[in-house]
Amino acid sequence: MKDCIFCKIAGGEIPSKKIYEDDSILAFHDANPQAPVHFLVIPKRHIANLMELGAEDIPLAGTLLHKAQELASELGCAEKGARFVINCKSDGGQTVDHLHLHVLAGRQMDWPPG
Ligand code: 5GP
Repeated sequence: MKDCIFCKIAGGEIPSKKIYEDDSILAFHDANPQAPVHFLVIPKRHIANLMELGAEDIPLAGTLLHKAQELASELGCAEKGARFVINCKSDGGQTVDHLHLHVLAGRQMDWPPG
């Protein structure tokens, strides 16, 4: 989608530190990391937020979730774990309107989130 920063990253128009890429998803390091490990996993196709995820996207969502945990494990987070976060729309604190899963690890997380 025009003017979507993550579509531009997925399309290679804006550079990113890529961790993984296939036909349907892309994982890349967050530009403003909030933990020693902080990367994002996105569908390449523009889906604005989790509320826009359709039943036809269930396989895509499964792939995205599975790849997130696989990459977290590869980055050394299997033993101590990680936080997997999807911010959704304004109350959810979403700032980029393209569905993305945050993976944060490498430090103790707090609860509740802010
Ligand atoms: P949100 O607040 O929407 O859940 O998260 C958006 C995330 O995208 C933020 O953590 C922010 O640092 C990250 N981000 C925003 N713009 C860019 C960018 O151009 N490149 C990368 N790698 N991350 C970005």
